[in-house]
Amino acid sequence: MRVVYLPAPVEIEMDQDRQDEIVKRIAEDRCIRGCERPVHCRGLCKECDSQFRSVRQSKKTEKERAAFERSAIEAGMVLAPNEQRRLRPTTNPFANVGSEVPDHVA
Ligand SMILES: [Zn+2]
Repeated sequence: MRVVYLPAPVEIEMDQDRQDEIVKRIAEDRCIRGCERPVHCRGLCKECDSQFRSVRQSKKTEKERAAFERSAIEAGMVLAPNEQRRLRPTTNPFANVGSEVPDHVA
């Protein structure tokens, strides 16, 4: 038998003020760590993302990496996977084309 760590939904407790700040920064395309660089991945700019990954990879086991990642997410230091996409308004101009069918077409 072996142990695998599959991503599973977890409930995160986060301060509402911090959550509001994160939503605002993502909308403005600014790194959630408070620097003024644009968002690259998971709410972080390239430099902050690199620092996050560096510490995560320094953990010895996948279980330790998962615990570190969860703590960082709860602290509002990094977004969960896919959260950035959910928070950021799309920049694709075609995204909403056809979602409302005009009366004269129906
Ligand atoms: Zn940053």
